[in-house]
Amino acid sequence: MTSLLIKNAHIGDGERTDILIRDGRISEIAPGLEAPGVATEDAVGAIAIPGLVDAHTHLDKSLIGWLWYKNDIGGGNLMAMIDNERAMKARLGLDPHVQSMRHALQTAAYGATLIRSHVDIDTDGGLRALEGVMQTADKLADVVEIETVAFPQSGLTIREGTAELMDQALAMGADLVGGLDPCGVDRDPKGHLDVVFDLAEKHGKGVDIHLHERGEMGMFSMEEILTRAEALDMTGLVTISHAFCLGMNDYQRVEAMLARLAALDVRIMTTAPASSPAPMVKQLMAHGIRIGAGNDGIQDTWGPYGNGDMLERAKFIGLRNNLRMDSEVKTALDICAGGGAEAMAKPRRALEVGAPGDVVLVRGETVVQAVVNHAPRQLVVKGGHVTARDGKPLMEAP
Ligand SMILES: [Zn+2]
Repeated sequence: MTSLLIKNAHIGDGERTDILIRDGRISEIAPGLEAPGVATEDAVGAIAIPGLVDAHTHLDKSLIGWLWYKNDIGGGNLMAMIDNERAMKARLGLDPHVQSMRHALQTAAYGATLIRSHVDIDTDGGLRALEGVMQTADKLADVVEIETVAFPQSGLTIREGTAELMDQALAMGADLVGGLDPCGVDRDPKGHLDVVFDLAEKHGKGVDIHLHERGEMGMFSMEEILTRAEALDMTGLVTISHAFCLGMNDYQRVEAMLARLAALDVRIMTTAPASSPAPMVKQLMAHGIRIGAGNDGIQDTWGPYGNGDMLERAKFIGLRNNLRMDSEVKTALDICAGGGAEAMAKPRRALEVGAPGDVVLVRGETVVQAVVNHAPRQLVVKGGHVTARDGKPLMEAP
């Protein structure tokens, strides 16, 4: 935690002002501030936005830094893609620590100060991916805060020994219990969710479940998730990632489910996918549901897309949700910043006194124009510590 004075920044679309960060928190915002002995950065009129938040990604398995991966497995067969990824990781000898350093530093250079990473736990890799990402989280503690989810990517009940590894991962320090398509992957919704919630209860941790299942199947799995969460009184401790089924074309069904999600303060993480039904953010917000966003896996065996830029993700949220007015685009940005942090039960990233000293300077005419153009990042600051300049991280990736 450190101190920094940022001079001559526009907060949002307001007048030029100064931002003083003391001991990692924003302590004062006003023009003409002076702080003798405190390091100073001149924003030269750049726009200050809060630190960005990637609330759903996979740091352990991006192929950043490798030669281009030629993908010849289509998206139609989920299990084939899962098996292919596990095989490719072994064949390439992918080092989860090295890959997570590359991925996290790139995301941080785009302005992220907080990341939630799902990390593969399976009987081939054991706990190696988690060890690597936790090592990265330690090394980058001053650059970007990294939270981990123990994620059974290859299935839980279909692969004997995975539940025991998940148990060990949580004992080792994984922050949340992950899960994945209880019907679609394990084809055993009761078995899968019983393990997930037993582990959550045993370790006193929250859950974050990938739910790609669409339509009624997704709704069924969601009901099973909520029934267990209600029984364990897990208000505010459950996250459902993707939740494609909430984008189904049955308004009354979805509205009733949103009311139930809101009652249990379930958080929804979205990527605002262009290729799938998806939860619509304004509809969720009308129910008071907290929403975060993430880039999900980037440049991996699943697909070639993504770069770690949460400002670009804010634009995708705007496009997917038909957000056109400036105020709406600012909402999309908030989902990728302060709103995402709140959805992770972390302090809200915001440019106000008392908030974490996480500030990103972008070059643009207005905040909305910066989102639309994913404007260049001039400076990234976490807790008063400068972490990236002109789009480049100050720490070198391996
Ligand atoms: Zn994911």
